[in-house]
Amino acid sequence: MYWEENLETMNEGALKEMQLKLVNQTLVKAAEAPFYRNISGKKLRTLEEIRELPFTRKQDLRDHFPYGFLRTDLSEAVRLHSSSGTTGNPTVVFHTRADIENWTNQVARSMYMIGVRPGDVFQNTMGYGLFTGGLGFHYGAEKIGALTIPIGPGNSKRQIWFMQTFGTTVVHILPSYALRLYSIFEEMSVDPKKDTKLKSFIIGSEPHSEELRREIEDLFGVRAYNSYGLSEVCGPGVGFECSCQKGIHLWEDYYYVEIIDPETGEVLPDGEEGELVLTTLQREAMPLLRYRTGDLTRVLPGKCECGRVHKRIERIKGRADDMLIINGVNIFPIQIEETIMRTPGVGKNYLIEVKTENFMDKLYVKVEVDKEIFEGTLAALTGLQKKLTEELKAEITVTPTVQLVEPGTLPVWEGKAKRVQDLRSK
Ligand code: ADP
Ligand code: ZN
Repeated sequence: MYWEENLETMNEGALKEMQLKLVNQTLVKAAEAPFYRNISGKKLRTLEEIRELPFTRKQDLRDHFPYGFLRTDLSEAVRLHSSSGTTGNPTVVFHTRADIENWTNQVARSMYMIGVRPGDVFQNTMGYGLFTGGLGFHYGAEKIGALTIPIGPGNSKRQIWFMQTFGTTVVHILPSYALRLYSIFEEMSVDPKKDTKLKSFIIGSEPHSEELRREIEDLFGVRAYNSYGLSEVCGPGVGFECSCQKGIHLWEDYYYVEIIDPETGEVLPDGEEGELVLTTLQREAMPLLRYRTGDLTRVLPGKCECGRVHKRIERIKGRADDMLIINGVNIFPIQIEETIMRTPGVGKNYLIEVKTENFMDKLYVKVEVDKEIFEGTLAALTGLQKKLTEELKAEITVTPTVQLVEPGTLPVWEGKAKRVQDLRSK
């Protein structure tokens, strides 16, 4: 089945040896793409020598649009995906048949790891199309033999109807959408714990806190697993949490993993936080060397209790460019989310706004509060507002203006959540 024991638990020395072989094969292949022409003839004697190679950045993919990274003949490519363009212009990514098979395998292996089996009913609420979240998972789930429902995003009532009618057990969902979906369950008086067979949620594609994961688990009575990926190197399936839920295993037979200091580019030792850099080890159409993901994380030291040797990273803190600098203080939106999720009475949806007032940065945090509190006494509301302001100040050292709003009044998103609005005058 999709427990590839020989690859997942091989000893570290053998894994490194395999990686060195794969990196060198990748260098030969990459040199056939126009962008990497100048690395032609390069061969590494040790994995560490990879540090001599320059980084590849998202901007390079844009500058060499559309074929600068394609190493095969276009006729060998069977699929094109394009990044959803969270930041800037889209990038285009090609896959050969072998790339699709490898990708499918990564997803199947990941889902198998959290217990998905034939007999499971898998509802994929991610967008089908250029976004990789839909098709990427689709083929992995089918490969395992789960009944796969390609429902795509939106239409929450229909989602719930499918869940109930076909006994959905596993759902792939954006964490921000999971919270919104719960409010529709409430509206329809359907209890996900009693009235469905839901067992696991696969949540990913956007940064989210541990607190948000636990909230989703509590609301739906499921276990929620963190899924990491990016379209440039493949899509979902690059990394996945195992049932220990202690970090995301990155599949090291498919990627060589480095963490670098985003300022200096220096490679950091395991345990230190920095930017994740990935080298693809088996890509055919578009190998990428030392690709700077922009995602901030760290490699967790020590071995995972599950027995897999593949490196684990901590949940993604955000992208380097998600960092807000408020009057000189660095803040990550996820810190605000953690605090909100920890505070009882608030937390289904929130929005962060930054404005310029009197030549200073001003931080607003708008949070939906539970219906009972919103409709309760003024004292309860002001008490909650004061508490949240204090908690946030303790976490981020900046005093925000907290605005508590009625449930269901903040914006919602069809795709990834856009929770930060920077309205500062430049
Ligand atoms: P885009 O760059 O247009 O958003 P992708 O859909 O490929 O295109 O998104 C990949 C990015 O999404 C990652 O680089 C990362 O920033 C974010 N991401 C994906 N999965 C996770 C996750 N589990 N946790 C946090 N961020 C994630
Ligand atoms: Zn593990």
